[in-house]
Amino acid sequence: MSGTVYLVGAGPGAPDLLTLRAARLLERADIVFHDALVHPHTVALAVHAIKVPVGKRCGRHSTAQQFISKRLVDAAATHEVIVRLKGGDPMLFGRAQEEIEALEAAGVRFEVVPGVTAALAACAELGISLTQRGSVRSVAFVTPRVGDGNTQSTWVESVAAADSGAIYMGAGEAEAISVALIAAGKSPSTPVAVVENASLAESRIIFSTLGALPRLAGNSLSGPAVIFVGPQFRARARAALLADERSGATARSAR
Ligand code: SAH
Repeated sequence: MSGTVYLVGAGPGAPDLLTLRAARLLERADIVFHDALVHPHTVALAVHAIKVPVGKRCGRHSTAQQFISKRLVDAAATHEVIVRLKGGDPMLFGRAQEEIEALEAAGVRFEVVPGVTAALAACAELGISLTQRGSVRSVAFVTPRVGDGNTQSTWVESVAAADSGAIYMGAGEAEAISVALIAAGKSPSTPVAVVENASLAESRIIFSTLGALPRLAGNSLSGPAVIFVGPQFRARARAALLADERSGATARSAR
């Protein structure tokens, strides 16, 4: 048998943000290899498939990438419909290329099904457009995360040069992000928005500025989060800082 491997985007979390194409493939799947962050209800759509969790969660044990790629190739020899289910969109910070290369090298057919990426689900949650006519015409999608043996990331330069930035996999490094962007010339008053667990019931939104961002580091983010920088968040960031100052003043006068 020579099956087809579908690299499928599961979306940011909420199961109903899955595409219809993805849902139909899951229903037909014989075997599903899914990331740890994919919602259990989404995985459950694969009613008759063998379900194999393959890790990928910050700081926790995860299956080595090469091993995942090999399992996909092997599965194509014994199953017809193989789904590799990845959080968000498979082609953005999803290591899809390693899997695609392994499948191509083995002569296995594959298709990619896009998903809603975290930054776009986060903007929906904020109700603030990522681009804005006349003021925000470029957005840098970056991650400060560097894999073992990889070259240094140029994420700082990219965000500094763009009107707006969407930073993935940076929640644990809020302080370093703030320091690096300010050193690269961004003003400490640059507005920041952080969205944790976008699209899920437990989502959280924090508005701040680059200068105040390090304080968030202590304000531990436990779920996946996207950090945005850009002028489109100014009004809300200002309001959040004012509210902070007022509650600080109230706390001081109560003492
Ligand atoms: N391919 C995925 C990204 C995987 S990298 C996508 O397109 O969305 C994992 C990072 O995505 C996390 O560190 C976080 O920055 C972001 N992320 C994933 N799900 C998220 C969510 N529900 N809310 C906020 N950020 C999320």
